[in-house]
Amino acid sequence: MIEFVVLGSGGSIPLPGRNHPAYLIRYEGWNLLFDAGEDVQRRFVEANAGMNKHMAIFISHIHADHVLGLGGLLLRFSLLGRERPLQVFGPAPLLDFVRVNQNTINLGTTFPTTVHAIEEGIVFEQEDAGIRAFQVDHRGFTLGYEFIYQRATGPFLPEKAREIGVPEGPLWGKLASGQTIELESGVSVEPEQVTGERDKPIKIVYSGDTRPCNAVRESAKNANLLVHEAMYAEEHADLADERGHTTAREAAEIAEDADVELLLLTHYSPRYGDGQTILSEAKEVFANSMLARDLMRITFDSDGNHTINLPE
Ligand SMILES: [Zn+2]
Ligand SMILES: [Zn+2]
Repeated sequence: MIEFVVLGSGGSIPLPGRNHPAYLIRYEGWNLLFDAGEDVQRRFVEANAGMNKHMAIFISHIHADHVLGLGGLLLRFSLLGRERPLQVFGPAPLLDFVRVNQNTINLGTTFPTTVHAIEEGIVFEQEDAGIRAFQVDHRGFTLGYEFIYQRATGPFLPEKAREIGVPEGPLWGKLASGQTIELESGVSVEPEQVTGERDKPIKIVYSGDTRPCNAVRESAKNANLLVHEAMYAEEHADLADERGHTTAREAAEIAEDADVELLLLTHYSPRYGDGQTILSEAKEVFANSMLARDLMRITFDSDGNHTINLPE
């Protein structure tokens, strides 16, 4: 199961119930955090996300609302005795940002932290999941991220393994995890011979801050979830253009073009209060639009079907 948790859905000014941007993808003992807005540490605890999981952080760009929570989160992890290494990825200025934090506010961690300056491309690869960064269209170099999860193999079929003569034991485990094995007879067995059909991939795309752009449209093709900023309503379309943001209608057009299953509108300006203007403008174009809410959880089963849980 994959879980997507909104830790911060605010834009520009944090409001009660709408923290600065931060989104978490949880799968197989991993926590993948996208952006680390101010006070993300508190939301992280509220979400019961687990401080000592395998973890990587992906920053979209170095605007204050997306990074000010990073130091606090790392310090919190240290206070709680995290030991596992942690990797942070983002545009090059992130290196200076972390260095200045280390040199001025005593940001030392109890665990190894590595910061990587990245550009476009595959930036994270594990057995069943990967993340690709792509450049979007904002003020300064900004990245969006595409997360794809797909089990390396389909379900293991013991009867097939027996048929071929693979003895029950460690070889079964190797085949089930996608490795080719060799029998004592010298015959090699491919995992595809003893596993069923693979589940479809599950794709989640995060736009970062951006004008509507092709990079998001292409990455989001057939995504299960598109998390897109929607800073402005149509009446302020000129501001969206001037400041490098997207209107709700434009975000919905991207979702429609990319044929995504669900559009989550986030980072909308505090001027729209509860966001109903943003939501209704998006829904006119793309019916399956929702407003992001802090601590909202969206879970995906192995068929990619989602369930939405709203906080109380
Ligand atoms: Zn920005
Ligand atoms: Zn922003």
